[in-house]
Amino acid sequence: MVNADRAHAADVLVEGELVTAVGPSLVAPPGARVLDCTGLLVMPGGVDPHTHLAMPFMGATTVDDWHSGHAAALAGGTTSHLDFALPVEHDLLAGNAAWMEKARRGCLDYALHAAVTSWSDKTASDMATLVARGVSSFKFFMAYKHALMVSDEQLLAGLARSAELGALAMVHAENGDAVEAGRAATYAAGVRGPQGHALSRPAAVEEEATGRAIRLAGLAGAPLYVVHVTCAGAVAEVARARAAGQRVVGEPVLAGIVLDEAAMWDANFTRAAAAVMSPPIRRRAVDGAALLGGLVSGVLGPLGTDHCSFNSTQKAAGRDDFRLIPNGVNGIGERMVLAWHELVASGRATPSEYVRATSTAAAQAFNLYPRKGLVAPGSDADLLVFDPRGRTTVGPRSGASDTNLYEGLEAAGRVAHTISRGRLLYSDGGPVTCEPGTSRFLPRPPFAPTMYPAKWGWEEGAGAAHDLSAQTRPEHREHSEHSEL
Ligand SMILES: [Zn+2]
Repeated sequence: MVNADRAHAADVLVEGELVTAVGPSLVAPPGARVLDCTGLLVMPGGVDPHTHLAMPFMGATTVDDWHSGHAAALAGGTTSHLDFALPVEHDLLAGNAAWMEKARRGCLDYALHAAVTSWSDKTASDMATLVARGVSSFKFFMAYKHALMVSDEQLLAGLARSAELGALAMVHAENGDAVEAGRAATYAAGVRGPQGHALSRPAAVEEEATGRAIRLAGLAGAPLYVVHVTCAGAVAEVARARAAGQRVVGEPVLAGIVLDEAAMWDANFTRAAAAVMSPPIRRRAVDGAALLGGLVSGVLGPLGTDHCSFNSTQKAAGRDDFRLIPNGVNGIGERMVLAWHELVASGRATPSEYVRATSTAAAQAFNLYPRKGLVAPGSDADLLVFDPRGRTTVGPRSGASDTNLYEGLEAAGRVAHTISRGRLLYSDGGPVTCEPGTSRFLPRPPFAPTMYPAKWGWEEGAGAAHDLSAQTRPEHREHSEHSEL
């Protein structure tokens, strides 16, 4: 049994959708189904803080919808995720409604962030409405000029509003003006291929925006979550702010720790284009190492994927112009095993540090803890049973896509079983059971204790988000079927 705080030999009792006991030598109740995990590790199921399922972007829609995305997640040991609802014509509530509808096709637990792409009084009031509905994190894009990007003035307003509401502000930190200039200059210099993507948005563009966002968040008194940190300079910005006591979370993504920017120089266009994401994958030996170091030391985390998958036909829109390649990579199905390989099998981190990086840190930042990110009585029975002695070779396809950015990688470790809400939905080598219509939205109260410590109290009634019994979870009471494991 591995949690972020320790690893020890224990049995886990699941009743209905919840873990009800953890300890040595538990006696299985009569009729219980027993899953022998001898020699395997039982851990909290993966929580992916960063996905884009069925999202329209750059003239295409990501190929993994909530069904294929959830199926891929299950086969890879991930049991919940947080997806970004884009506004519909800048309307946050319409965007949230559209995403809730799409999510019905899935089978796993999910939470939603909301992207804020403009600013008005209505935006500010819609943010309050969304917080009341359990959407307590808002993403601001400092890049994608003329599309999603907000100005510093709008970002400051959004940061202040987030702090007021107890929400977590998130930023895509790249300098959008510099990116536009870089893209135009790179194209004008005659570069057409996917490597132009890397050349046009160097690390300085990310470092500058990361530092700016952190300083603006400090001015606004807002905690900050920096999505997809990809370069050593941005890690340094996050580390500096954290060392100064500022509540800043830096999220590396799987591609950044596993791959190298050389992927975009691959002579095979399909393979090179599959690696195009923003910010770009950088130098593994320098930037990837800084990201791994950040994860191991606790300066960074959670580890996300930015799963935003486009197939080879969609990526081919940019065959003659890198600027038209839809930005995005897969990863929801590969994150858990590849992270195990990079963190634990490599000797860099302990299994508990791996659990922190892949589930606990996300659950804490986004106020899902201890319901998610922990295996303990009262937690949701979302479990990854992992075989540390197994091996995994990444196949040529991912989810609904005909490509897999990680194709051919060999990793130590293998997913043995994935259990979501007490349902054994995947066992190694078997089919994935993902019944459409069985997804569940996870409402998240504001003022996550790790982001707003001043609001956390030990007085009676305070810190309710820490107390599982205080959460409103009527669905558990409806569920009478016994499925002990
Ligand atoms: Zn993203």
